[in-house]
Amino acid sequence: MYRSHHCGELRSENIGHEVTLAGWVQRTRNMGGMTFVDLRDRYGITQLSFNLEKDEKLCEAARKLGREFVIQVQGVVIERESKNDRLDTGHIEIEVRELKVLNESQTPPFTIEDETDGGEEVRMKYRYLDLRRNPLRKNLELRHKLGFETRKFLSDQGFLEIETPYLIKSTPEGARDFVVPSRMHGGEFYALPQSPQTFKQILMVGGYDRYFQIVRCFRDEDLRADRQPEFTQIDCEMAFVEQEDILNTFESLVRHLFQEVKGIDLPDYQRLTYAEAMRRYGSDKPDIRFDMEFVELTDVAQGKDFVVFDSAEIVVGICAKGAASYTRKQLDQLTDFVKRPQIGAKGLIYCRVNEDGSMKSSVDKFFNEADLQQWKSKFNAEPGDLILVLAGETDKTRKQLNELRLEMGNQLGLRDSKTYAPLWVIDFPLLEWDEDGKRFLAMHHPFTSPKPEHLSLLDSDPGSINANAYDMVINGVELGGGSIRIHDQKLQARMFEILGFTKEEAEKQFGFLMGAFKYGAPPHGGIAFGFDRLAAMFGGTDSIRDYIAFPKNNAGRDLMIDSPSSISADQLEELSLNITQE
Ligand code: ASP
Repeated sequence: MYRSHHCGELRSENIGHEVTLAGWVQRTRNMGGMTFVDLRDRYGITQLSFNLEKDEKLCEAARKLGREFVIQVQGVVIERESKNDRLDTGHIEIEVRELKVLNESQTPPFTIEDETDGGEEVRMKYRYLDLRRNPLRKNLELRHKLGFETRKFLSDQGFLEIETPYLIKSTPEGARDFVVPSRMHGGEFYALPQSPQTFKQILMVGGYDRYFQIVRCFRDEDLRADRQPEFTQIDCEMAFVEQEDILNTFESLVRHLFQEVKGIDLPDYQRLTYAEAMRRYGSDKPDIRFDMEFVELTDVAQGKDFVVFDSAEIVVGICAKGAASYTRKQLDQLTDFVKRPQIGAKGLIYCRVNEDGSMKSSVDKFFNEADLQQWKSKFNAEPGDLILVLAGETDKTRKQLNELRLEMGNQLGLRDSKTYAPLWVIDFPLLEWDEDGKRFLAMHHPFTSPKPEHLSLLDSDPGSINANAYDMVINGVELGGGSIRIHDQKLQARMFEILGFTKEEAEKQFGFLMGAFKYGAPPHGGIAFGFDRLAAMFGGTDSIRDYIAFPKNNAGRDLMIDSPSSISADQLEELSLNITQE
């Protein structure tokens, strides 16, 4: 038996017990005649004590232990002289009788404690050491719990977890596929799934009316800070349902997770149509923990000879409560913020509501007090408030103002990490116009069903059609999205046509799906949640990397195994990928 207890287990009740522990040496401290060792495992830290007077040899051996040595000790649980209330085991220590070194360790390149001196790159390279640290361990435990509770909830609701293949062929979902060359079929390729979308739909045709899977998905996208080329989804599909059934079912799932994992009762979900979300917040994933809604000023702001406004499609602003005290410097910083290339506004107009109710703006030259009072009443602004206004082309300006709104939310402390404001965004447009390719793209994916009442617009004005598509958003984070699907073969074929596929292309890529639809496809719909992101949200951060045991870095590399990497000429040959090398 390697151990009788783990390192987080022993308490005062165990005083006097003989125990055996095993773990890693976190620290050794020599204090005169005593040597103390912090012994660590996944469950905690237990202090070991060695008394020079009682056993010189043993104490000498303890003094030689290096950081991260793996040891086994036998001894007696005794009361600690100086208690540590921050540690679960802080009232006891082990008076060691026997010490055995199970394995030595090189000195680790960073300290393996809650606060570490290791930079992210070095910690990724030595991920096995980083994994020993509490913060990562807690994250992975949280992730496990979320997965477990998800399975439990969905299984109780009659969902079956069914695996779908990883070696498939391309399913366009807006990103590039990772492809895998076939050795046995030279010149042919599998693709790794961007999601199991078509398979889960085919499972519906197969009669499995409630499916889910916690599944890896692969997208060869340009990487952004919180994107991973492979990531995990909770992927779900249901047959014989309408949008309302899906929203209710998955609202309950997320409510269950918040209850079980965080002990939080999630407030009621709000609902916003996509159009409303864009108009009121400039975002399809608004953070509704705080108001600061957009107010349009176009009608009262134009016609006063201020060309910035007069030449704009929209003049729109927000009212930051209590921010009239912002200094000139702070306002300049906000202006710089919106002018950053990532945001791209040309400038920022502001207007303070003074304590006496009068107005002071950065455009006083063009707007007199009466004009500005009109602004004030549009915003319902009060003394002490600060109005911030942007102008320009509608979509762009709204997006810019969204960034400013979020920034002001941060600055004014309105985005409290302990508050959760859940939201469904519904009625997404079916299509979006791709200016570069001069064609329509599916906003969600090509299998999404138009709203039945919009079907008649399919030929005349496809761009104006809304879809039965929905996103779940919490605190400005898109946690999941899905749609009611097309289940009619003819409509699906028409959809591919609108998306610019020729009949042959559609047949080649999706013949199997349209084939299945000819054999009694039930009405169906589903949703998928970003599991890594869900875990990060539950953990209170937005860094998904910290919730993945073996993530890739910003450049899509695994620094521990050093991948991607080249392969041998023989392998290339075998895969019929004989790239001539200079
Ligand atoms: N397959 C979709 C996605 O990965 C989700 C869905 O429509 O169910 O975003």
